[in-house]
Amino acid sequence: MLGRRLKNALGAMALLVCGGCGGAEPAVQLADVNVARGERADLQLEVPAGKEDPATFIPLSVIAGERDGPTVLMVAGVHGYEFPPILAADRLAREITPEMLSGTVIIVRVAHVSAYEDRAPYVNPFDRKNLNRSFPGSSDGTQAERIAHVLSTVVIPAADFVFDVHGGDGAEWLEAFVGVYGGPLATDYEQALGTAQSMGFPNIVRYSMNTQQQVDQRRSLNRQAVAQGLPTVLVEAGQNGSRDDVHVDLIVSGMRSALTYLGLLQGPESQAAVTPRYFDGTQSVPVTHSGLWYPTRRAGKVEAGERLGEIRDYQGVTVETVTAPASGYGIYGLAGPPVRAGDSVMTIAQPVDSLEE
Ligand SMILES: [Zn+2]
Repeated sequence: MLGRRLKNALGAMALLVCGGCGGAEPAVQLADVNVARGERADLQLEVPAGKEDPATFIPLSVIAGERDGPTVLMVAGVHGYEFPPILAADRLAREITPEMLSGTVIIVRVAHVSAYEDRAPYVNPFDRKNLNRSFPGSSDGTQAERIAHVLSTVVIPAADFVFDVHGGDGAEWLEAFVGVYGGPLATDYEQALGTAQSMGFPNIVRYSMNTQQQVDQRRSLNRQAVAQGLPTVLVEAGQNGSRDDVHVDLIVSGMRSALTYLGLLQGPESQAAVTPRYFDGTQSVPVTHSGLWYPTRRAGKVEAGERLGEIRDYQGVTVETVTAPASGYGIYGLAGPPVRAGDSVMTIAQPVDSLEE
């Protein structure tokens, strides 16, 4: 039954029900639902209630192409206040049809519905946890942990390639970039890098996964995908809680180019005229005071020791002058004004000539 939304919840497992889904030749299986080649299904994955907080759901669209090919997962809305990814997911889910595809596209339209509806940046409104630090999650944990568990156990295993799409959160500036996972613990770096290069973004950052600790630490959805052995691309566009079309358009065109590069869509490969800047790793700039953040720098080249801004306390006294700990390129940071001791006010990416291994 195309486009029908059905709900169900049973026990501790998320259960997905799709009346009419499941033809003779399943293209993709999610929990107990088969979506047949040439069909689409717009579904709701139920996340049952926990001991202390309510049930929620994950809306997603599965578009199974008429022809064989890989299954690509795009996840939007892990952070509910990052709007361009959610709008781009909605547009792509409406525009892509089974006739267009060799392979299957799974679009998680909003991974974190309670945060989205609550207009809550960074964290879950019930447990105050950052969903993007809560993977792999737990079936009997708090709401963020249960959402992570459903994504880890039901959605990610269905994919061959994962795009986790974010932007600058409520009070963050950000220059659009694509992140790729390299190093010995990442899968198929070459394919991930080629895909990233096809997307027409101005910046590409490599995150090297050299140790299990790097994969495990503060585990995000994209690190979870890496841990599950999938080539993974992080997409970042948009800032400051805005819904600017320029960022939505960049994500949509980037995803279309990526799907073409990966062979799911036909057409000329990337028409990206952009030569991206390349970066290998990033460094944060933590501060030691809370109060009002007055940045003097945003995106662009920074030199070690350069002044990045100052923090004033609630009496108006300047209590900290923040300088760059290293040279590099400021790629995202805190717009403020709220700042708390321990926050990073800028992420400085380390420029390199190339990311070929
Ligand atoms: Zn995010």
